[in-house]
Amino acid sequence: MRVISLPCPHCQHRVRAAKSRTMSTLMKEITYMCQNPECGHTFVASLEVLRTLSMSAIPNPEVRIHLSQHVRNACANQLALFKND
Ligand SMILES: [Zn+2]
Repeated sequence: MRVISLPCPHCQHRVRAAKSRTMSTLMKEITYMCQNPECGHTFVASLEVLRTLSMSAIPNPEVRIHLSQHVRNACANQLALFKND
């Protein structure tokens, strides 16, 4: 699996995730350390679930995630079919 991370905002060098902290079901903070020894920047970034692209088959009723526009359109189309029955 590919690990996606930001480059160092100061020198654009690769960074390494040093630790993470779960803030909520939908958000995590990650501490990154720049791997350029001439830079040494350490910073915190966030990883957040923003929207659903495909619905879960086992949705958690306590989790609320925005739906992407195409999912909303697909749901509206399905509901319209029931109205015509
Ligand atoms: Zn750097």
